[in-house]
Amino acid sequence: METKILVNKLVKKYGDHLVLDKIDVAIKEKDVVCVIGPSGSGKSTFLRCINKLEEPTSGQVIVDKFDLTDKNTNINEVRQHIGMVFQQFNLFPHLSVLDNITLAPIDIKKMDKNEAEKRAIELLEAVGLANKKDAYPDSLSGGQKQRVAIARALAMDPDIMLFDEPTSALDPEMVGEVLQVMKNLAKQGMTMVIVTHEMGFAKEVANRVVFMDGGHILDDGSPDQVFNNPKSERTANFLNRVL
Ligand code: ADP
Ligand code: MG
Repeated sequence: METKILVNKLVKKYGDHLVLDKIDVAIKEKDVVCVIGPSGSGKSTFLRCINKLEEPTSGQVIVDKFDLTDKNTNINEVRQHIGMVFQQFNLFPHLSVLDNITLAPIDIKKMDKNEAEKRAIELLEAVGLANKKDAYPDSLSGGQKQRVAIARALAMDPDIMLFDEPTSALDPEMVGEVLQVMKNLAKQGMTMVIVTHEMGFAKEVANRVVFMDGGHILDDGSPDQVFNNPKSERTANFLNRVL
């Protein structure tokens, strides 16, 4: 499989605070990578460097042959191929579900309105929310909001999806419905990088688990390898605490 995301010696500092310390990782097409690790270990920063929501201090991030760290790269073009889903949904509160989903395809991709709506309804069907197309975000549960946020990201037809703790803000009974949507995406062959504390999901759905601590990747392997035979003692300690 082709390499989709190549990260070379990625360093991110905030002032003197070294948050990512020479991260190296290559993610292949159709990989489903779960990134785990303690709070403050740099997981979100790593994810945000992949679509340049954060500017790397040094090192290289290459997505689909586009070098994000090259000043001449048009980041907006690259971002069209990368969907991102956050813990806090970030839906537009003044727009209906349908308009949340069609906004970027119409504005950025210059998609015809009818075509954008037709696609949005297909995506809402895929996440089980076709009946909510005219609803406003306020009237939805957390799990529904997050499924709309996923549909909205998919409306740009990305070939990489980044998730930053997509279920961490949800009531427990809503976690499953969001994980199910993500599982379906994985089955369809989407390349996914998922920061999560859902270890059951990581075991079942990921083909690869990356453990981060202190700005380093301390383990990187199959779920079986990382969960059952971690290389680093810190991984083992972390897993003992969360499993
Ligand atoms: P995680 O997602 O693993 O919890 P983060 O990537 O959010 O970790 O944060 C890693 C470290 O970087 C933390 O110590 C955090 O306080 C710091 N950090 C994150 N974002 C910023 C920022 N915008 N300015 C300063 N420090 C930050
Ligand atoms: Mg985080």
